[in-house]
Order: sequence, then structure tokens, then C-alpha cells
Amino acid sequence: MSEKLEAYYGLPQEVKFCKKCTISNQRPSSVIEFKNKPSDIKPTIEFDEENVCSACQFAEIKESKIDWQEREQQLIELCDKYRSKDGSYDCIVPGSGGKDSVFVSHILKYKYGMNPLTVTWAPHKYTDIGWNNMQNWIHAGLDNILYGPNGKLHRTLTKLAFENLVHPFQPFIIGQRLIGPRFSALYNIPLVFYGENQAEYGNNIKDNDRPTMAPDFYSERPDLNKLYLGGLTVKQLVEDYHVDKRDLNPYLPVDGSRLKKIGTEVHYLSYYIKWDPQECYYYASENVGFQANTERTEGSYSKYSSIDDRIDPLHYYTTFIKFGIGRATYDSSQEIRNGKITREEGVALVHKYDDEFPAKYFREILEYMDITEERFWEIIDNARSPHLWKKENGVWKLRHQVL
Ligand SMILES: [Zn+2]
Repeated sequence: MSEKLEAYYGLPQEVKFCKKCTISNQRPSSVIEFKNKPSDIKPTIEFDEENVCSACQFAEIKESKIDWQEREQQLIELCDKYRSKDGSYDCIVPGSGGKDSVFVSHILKYKYGMNPLTVTWAPHKYTDIGWNNMQNWIHAGLDNILYGPNGKLHRTLTKLAFENLVHPFQPFIIGQRLIGPRFSALYNIPLVFYGENQAEYGNNIKDNDRPTMAPDFYSERPDLNKLYLGGLTVKQLVEDYHVDKRDLNPYLPVDGSRLKKIGTEVHYLSYYIKWDPQECYYYASENVGFQANTERTEGSYSKYSSIDDRIDPLHYYTTFIKFGIGRATYDSSQEIRNGKITREEGVALVHKYDDEFPAKYFREILEYMDITEERFWEIIDNARSPHLWKKENGVWKLRHQVL
């Protein structure tokens, strides 16, 4: 190719695919969402000189280098340190009632003798199956606090996150990250357990070596003018969008001095127990009556992950547009690493489903965000990076696909 095509979002110009799974080097790492600005350069997954992604490298380490019995012993010691003797709650488990939070909370309570309080940052819009699973979770013997953020503000932030970052899921990610530490502060319960560390899927591989979440994801409280929600500063939100500053509190990092006083520690269960999403699903359906969807998820072949929010399919469609990585790529790469499918099967599934448009809840979500269909496509088409996309006879096509 004679001329270099522009790469948006600071993505690597040359597109490479992992030789073991289906992920490409365009996969963005998790960012601190309340600092996420439209102009930011996105850090992406690392590939080694053999073209193996860091998630596959870590899958190898999980298989051969980590002593899982020793890790479980560490979990037992952690639980022994915090387990309550007077019937009070001794840990917080955030989650929506999906397979992962169901697994974490149930195993902590019934295998390790903890007394968890589960807390839920509500999805933008529950699906029927998601709501049923939420109920099954509680009925399987767990206490829950369902926190519903201010719907009017949540919709505004979702719309702004879509318009400015093409990232409509951002308000949920922020809330879900913060709700564990926030309830730790509110209820004076120092121990918080999330499920898997996102580094399992390709953030900096070294992040997997620590059992806890870095506090800057939830507690560093910078100057309000350096904080961004939906790609805008708090000042812009208040002045230009007439947002009531008080309403923003649930989206702002938790007061670090309060967390210090309580001694809050946010742990990932995936550090202690070998994490496998499909095994979480089997555990959740066996022990809690968790139900998979009756139909395949749009954009993928799977039926049991991220099925509780009507905005989920659009979230994955935006990653397909921005990074060329759709839901079938995320699902298949993870299942290849866990030995559930072969790479060949994964590649075929990506070709079949990755580009599928999420039609089922589309109208509902447009209405939710108060965006016209015309404006929707304008935002989507502007988000297509020239190094990933080309238009042929009026049809958008990816320049590179996994083979
Ligand atoms: Zn890989």
C-alpha cells in the first residue's frame, strides 16, 4: 500500500490478528472511564513477536504456571480474615444477576461460608430474561440491593457518550465499577469481590499478578474539571446541558479518605479461582437456576453472556464499528482460549455473525437515547476509521478480517 491510511483513536496502523485466537491488535484496553475524552489515544492489547496476544499468553500461564490450589488457600485465608461472626454482611458482591456475579456470590456464601451483600447497578433497560435471572439469583438465597440511577440523567449521559465517544455503554461501566466501593463506604463493609479481572482479556498482562483492582479506577478524585462523563467535563454538563451537579454523585469516584478509613479492598475472584465463563454459566444454571436465552444473541452465536441489558447488542456493534471487533470476536476468542472451540470454528463464527446489526431493540434504544435514525447512522459512519473501513459500491466493508 503506497499511502498510509489514517487510524482513529490512536489505534495501531497495521492490523494484525492473533495466531491462537480471533482477536486483533485493535482491541482497546480498559480505561478509567471518568477520565475518557474523545481525543484520547486508546491503549490496545499487546502482541508478542510470534503474533500471540497477551490474553492467549495469560491463558497459557493460567494453564501451566499458576498453582490454583495455592491461590485457593489464599482465598480461604482472606475469607477467614473478614468472615463475620455476628450475622452481619462481610463482603460486597456487585453484579446484575448474570452468570458471573451469580457464581461469585453463591460460591462465596455456600462454599467459603461468607455472608455477602450483593449490589446491583441496574442495566439501562432490563431484558425479560435478565430480570428473571435477577429474581432467580435472589431466590437462590442471596440478599440484594438494586440501585437504580436517576433515569433522566442516565439517558442524557448515554446519549452524550454515544454522540461524543460512540460508547453508549459508558454510564453503565462507570456505575458498575463504582458501586462495589461505594457500598463498601456506605455500609462499612471493607471487602469487595468482583468476578474476573478484565486483564484476562488483554489489558496489561501484569495486571493479572495482583488480586486487587487499582484504586484509580474507583477512588481517585481529581479536580472536577478534569473529570469527564459522556466525553464532557462536569462544568460543560452543568452549564451547557443543565445537569444538576448533585445528581452526578453516583458517577463520581468514591471519596478515597473514607475508603481508607474503612480499609476497603476490591478483589477479583479470578485471581483465586481459575476463571472460565462457560463454567460460571454451568455453575449458575445448576445452583441458581440461571437461564440462558432461548435465542442466539445478535452479533454472536452465544446465548448466556451479557443478556440482561437491551443496550448490550448496540454496545458490541459500536466496538465492531470503531475497532473492527464485534461480539462474535470477543466471544470466540475467549472460548478458544478456554478450549471450548477451535480457532477454525472461531474464525467461521466471526465471519458469520460479527457484522450482524442489532435490530431487536434498535427502535427502543433510539427512543431511549432520543436520537433519530439519521443521526444514529451519521455518528456510526463517522466512527469508521479509514485504516479499518472502505466503501465499495456504497457498502461499507472491513479492510481486514481474521483468516
Ligand atoms: Zn490471542
